[in-house]
Amino acid sequence: MTFLSSGQKGLDAAVAQVFEDSHHAFGLRHIMEELKGELRKGPWSQQIREGIIEDFTRAAQACSIEDFNISIESIRNISSEAADWIIARKPEYWSDAIFRVCRYDHFSSNIVDAFNNWIPTKKEGSIVLMIDSLRMKIMEVIESRREACKVWPGPLTPTMEYKVEEEMLKARKMTVLCSSDTVFEVRCNAIFVVNLANWECTCRRWQLSGLPCMHAVVVFNRTGRSFYDYCSKFFRIESYQLTYSGTIFPIPDMDTVDFECWGKFNSASQATYIR
Ligand SMILES: [Zn+2]
Repeated sequence: MTFLSSGQKGLDAAVAQVFEDSHHAFGLRHIMEELKGELRKGPWSQQIREGIIEDFTRAAQACSIEDFNISIESIRNISSEAADWIIARKPEYWSDAIFRVCRYDHFSSNIVDAFNNWIPTKKEGSIVLMIDSLRMKIMEVIESRREACKVWPGPLTPTMEYKVEEEMLKARKMTVLCSSDTVFEVRCNAIFVVNLANWECTCRRWQLSGLPCMHAVVVFNRTGRSFYDYCSKFFRIESYQLTYSGTIFPIPDMDTVDFECWGKFNSASQATYIR
């Protein structure tokens, strides 16, 4: 299980404490905003600051430690303080190259921000009413997503289909040499080895994103294999549907529920509402 959070307020320690075997990734946005704030204190022009932010993004999305280091060194050439600040922000939580498991190409915790915006601040008078307000919003989202995916052509979700198209466009002007039934050498600006049996490419993008990289795509084109047979199952519409297949049961009118008596309900009654 991998959590994606803002990494704020001690979440790194708290999540590890409660979910011992989980992994935890930080969204880039919060670190990026902090970095921008730090850079504004320095003597650099806007152009140089933007260059550092671009390098930081490249470092986070680099697939190999070597490429990560190249981007960090590029920042260090401008400011060793900025590079040290970035390294101190625990890249093992936000760098694709260093993170221990697959991030599935997710660098944003937008869903967390959206959820935070749902939490009412003043209107609801109690925690119970606040939870009920959230429950209603979650029910609406689940329903809208169940409806939306009914018309998707598939087999992947639209976001992933778009990424597939991007990889297909990039997969041109490369030479493929066949080493065995499953191992191929792909030559473009560098040489990459694609292993179909292990779902791996030496560029590491396939392993880190769950979606075959452009080098794998040229191998599929050459050998007549289907791209979709080599995608993570989590990108398929069936997985999306499964995500929203759970049921939130209706709750009776909150005004008529006597919460003091709630705890006295027998277990059968509780089971009706709390499933
Ligand atoms: Zn590759």
